[in-house]
Amino acid sequence: MKRLTNRKKSNSLLNTYNRAPISFVQGKGVWLIDKKGERYLDIASGIAVNSLGHAHPQLIKALNNQATKLWHTSNLYNIPNQEKLAKLLVRQTFADKVFFTNSGAESIECAIKMARRYFFSIGEKTKNKIITFSGSFHGRTIGTIAAGGSKKLLEGFGPKASGFSSEKIEELETLEKRITKRTCAILIEPILGEGGIIPMNGKILKELKTICRKNEILLIFDEVQTGVGRTGYFLAHEKFKVKPDIVALAKGLGGGFPIGACLATEKVAKGMTPGTHGSTYGGNPLACAVATVAVSNILKPEFLEDVRQKGNYFKMELKSLVKKYPHHLEEVRGEGLMLGLKCSSKNLNLIEECRKEKLLVVAGGENTIRILPPLTIKINEINQALNKLEKALSKLEL
Ligand SMILES: *Cc1c(COP(=O)(O)O)cnc(C)c1O
Repeated sequence: MKRLTNRKKSNSLLNTYNRAPISFVQGKGVWLIDKKGERYLDIASGIAVNSLGHAHPQLIKALNNQATKLWHTSNLYNIPNQEKLAKLLVRQTFADKVFFTNSGAESIECAIKMARRYFFSIGEKTKNKIITFSGSFHGRTIGTIAAGGSKKLLEGFGPKASGFSSEKIEELETLEKRITKRTCAILIEPILGEGGIIPMNGKILKELKTICRKNEILLIFDEVQTGVGRTGYFLAHEKFKVKPDIVALAKGLGGGFPIGACLATEKVAKGMTPGTHGSTYGGNPLACAVATVAVSNILKPEFLEDVRQKGNYFKMELKSLVKKYPHHLEEVRGEGLMLGLKCSSKNLNLIEECRKEKLLVVAGGENTIRILPPLTIKINEINQALNKLEKALSKLEL
């Protein structure tokens, strides 16, 4: 009888994750504490989510304050917290208009709909195809797995939503040939995240912008992972001074509270009129109260400068680890506090060894370890992470 209960218990979650056998009960800054009281150094931030670390006092205060007042009304009414956050995002970025969602995939869905709807609204009703790139990740909905395009995302979930092509970034010179009268947009991550921290350089992004301008199509950046300070710029594309038409955000935006956003220029946003799109939860007062505090902290020039400096330091130190452990490590990639450590063998061993050293990292792409610490990480904590990483490396077999 007991066995039956246990079996029932372990089976009650959908089996879509290979979960590590740890349960965390508390967090503080870059540290997570498990049931047994063991402290783990978290340089994954729940995959680039806890941008201000765990249990940030200002975020807790914002959440508590709002929680005693009002949680949810509806987008049928004005939501002042939403307007405040939108104003902040608009002031800081290329955008004029914002739509709030609850996740990255929803932000991308909004971006896709907005691009298509823009052309529909100017009478170009068949201009609806979107150019995407292999190795990309845009989410797990039926639409966004089609945009991602990989077999891993799509297998068994057909029919595949049409309207997305999957091009190779290396074949940029011939990309223009694949643009047709029906192409409405190019969608790309400025740094491929899930794909293994593969940065697009300024030249590539500028070239894409030129192609878009020449062919009068839209440029959409998926900044769900790169956005909100992660790379040391509020949005990653700002470094290259390439102006997009639409940008999707989520992950770090709420500092751990679920919220996403789709940002757009006035021109492109015009097609989205009352009744064309919506969300029950999107931009609810709680999420917006917390995200406003997260964003206000992150957009400060000195905060972003600090992220760039810490990122450079981390990257430099990782590079010397690559030199020291050439059998295990190949290279370091990335920008700011979005770093990837390319391993020569299977990275799962290293991730597991790191976990034994109480260091949390996350896998990405082929044999890459992603390092996405809270943006508030301190230099001495970076040093502790490097020590743990080196210990883990020294335990790997040749
Ligand atoms: C995580 C991620 C998404 C999907 O976000 P969800 O919140 O999981 O839906 C989309 N695009 C990129 C670049 C991401 O990193």
